[in-house]
Amino acid sequence: MRILKYIIRKLIYTESTPKIRKTYIDERGYTRFKDSHKLVHRWVAEKKLGRKLMSNEVVHHKNRNKLDNRPENLVIYSSQFNHHMRHAVHKIITNRW
Ligand SMILES: [Zn+2]
Repeated sequence: MRILKYIIRKLIYTESTPKIRKTYIDERGYTRFKDSHKLVHRWVAEKKLGRKLMSNEVVHHKNRNKLDNRPENLVIYSSQFNHHMRHAVHKIITNRW
């Protein structure tokens, strides 16, 4: 079961990471581009929105997998407060942040 989870995570990671640019996983578990150190999920969100993200905007991973940067897994919140509210509601429902 654990190995299956690992394979699924690996597959999702491979599928959702741009192949042309080299990436690495930072100390917080987020994918970044090797050349610019930009966070991949913010880059994908910008492509999805068709504009640059503002510094106050926060990108949330729907399935809580920080390595799953597929556009459909990303939600953009206008502030960290709104993002935290989303997690707070989720915590009430599921008891998980
Ligand atoms: Zn979040």
